Amino acid sequence: MTTDYVAPVSAAERSLDIPDLVAGVRAAFASGRTRPVEWRRTQLHALERLMTENEGAIATALAQDLGRKPFEAWLADIASTASEAHDAAKNVGKWMRRKHRRLELSQLPGRGWVEYEPYGTVLVIGAWNFPFALTLGPAVGAIAAGNAVVLKPSEVSPASSALMAELVPKYLDNEAIKVVEGDGAVSQELIAQGFDRLCFTGGTEIGRKVYESAATHLTPVTLELGGKSPVIVAADADVAVAAKRIAWTKLINSGQICIAPDYVLADAKIRDELVTRMGEAVAKFESDSPGGKPIVNERHFERLTAALAATKGRVAVGGGSDATTLRIDPTVVVDPDLDEPLMSDEIFGPILPVVTVGSVDEAIEFVNARPKPLAAYLFTRSKTVRERVIRQVAAGGMLINHLLFHFATTKLPFGGVGPSGMGGYHGRWGFEEFSHRKSVLTKPTRPDLTALIYPPYTEKAWKLARRLF
Ligand code: NAD
Repeated sequence: MTTDYVAPVSAAERSLDIPDLVAGVRAAFASGRTRPVEWRRTQLHALERLMTENEGAIATALAQDLGRKPFEAWLADIASTASEAHDAAKNVGKWMRRKHRRLELSQLPGRGWVEYEPYGTVLVIGAWNFPFALTLGPAVGAIAAGNAVVLKPSEVSPASSALMAELVPKYLDNEAIKVVEGDGAVSQELIAQGFDRLCFTGGTEIGRKVYESAATHLTPVTLELGGKSPVIVAADADVAVAAKRIAWTKLINSGQICIAPDYVLADAKIRDELVTRMGEAVAKFESDSPGGKPIVNERHFERLTAALAATKGRVAVGGGSDATTLRIDPTVVVDPDLDEPLMSDEIFGPILPVVTVGSVDEAIEFVNARPKPLAAYLFTRSKTVRERVIRQVAAGGMLINHLLFHFATTKLPFGGVGPSGMGGYHGRWGFEEFSHRKSVLTKPTRPDLTALIYPPYTEKAWKLARRLF
């Protein structure tokens, strides 16, 4: 966290003409320059270089904005975005290929296929917690699909936003890809321009506002939202490993991750062992950086400390905080009330409630009684338990015996469901998300077999049509 960074100048203050800027991007798309595979590959390679050649500057910006450790900056923002861009550059030619379909008899002679068409102009509104991965990451799919793109990084991570605004024009096509810095008002002004597609990453409530504004223009949206992601720890789990993995992933970025473990549903038989081991893991993992985890700003610090102060649960690990440095100790709270803020709101910080359950079925019922989460995690050694949870728990994504890693693969789509979002991206799915699947059917004019059923309709035509269709 830093307080010495100067906030980016808003679009209005800079007298940035948003309609003019968007018109320029629209014109760049209309010129056709973003469609050829060569343009897409060049931009994707350049985006990869943007990330790898500026590793130091990016890590510094992330340290300034979020107090992020360099290793975590590299792992979560730099490596993930660079590998997305690399994978897309390598595969985009294959992804773009027409997908021919075998047609029904009634459609013959003829050929049909799916033609991947860029939407046109795509607006990407990013979140602050992984400012590069959540702004440039979705841009990978949008560029691979041949769109012109406007990026609006979050104003809450100003150093990262400013660095993106500086680097993007240096590496990427200056006419077709633009960065606009600013806050929610700037986002709304951008949305009001009527983009052809929109990707928003952020909280569920703001997501609702974005969806409403986009509806005016019927702009299709991808919403990457938040929620409370549960971790079910079954009685047969490998508790020693589960404790380390839950503790580690909760500590990354101070728990300010959309798919961070939000709360644990621990079987009563292993709960105490799990809590003790998580406490040991936290002590070990934080031994080189004591003093609590940095929180992004005062508003979030106050929200988190208020939730902690209100808890009726037992604070088993941590519990301390420092308002002068905006730091909160990694904290585990056992059995809070289910209607207190720790259990009703997304935590987004280094506090982990552990709720005791009597069985896996009780845990499943608990999760399904609440809004569908962005991620659901399970620790178990049993295949039967694993299959039951996979089949019965609805969630954006699911990971068994680990956490977070499903974000880091280009082989699986990442996204939410219900209140945790709509649509998904990463790898091929990003390309699909930002492409319109246009159906194309071609037919020969001769021989003109349709003549068999042209009007006036005969009994023979009827018979033939009934057989064919
Ligand atoms: P946020 O919703 O406060 O802000 C996200 C973006 O929306 C920012 O760029 C912000 O400038 C913009 N914005 C703010 N007000 C707006 C408005 N009225 N209209 C349009 N845009 C507006 O989210 P945040 O605090 O940056 O991130 C935290 C939330 O995001 C958490 O809920 C978290 O779970 C979620 N999140 C989800 C994902 C995901 O991939 N699903 C990833 C990271 C964060």
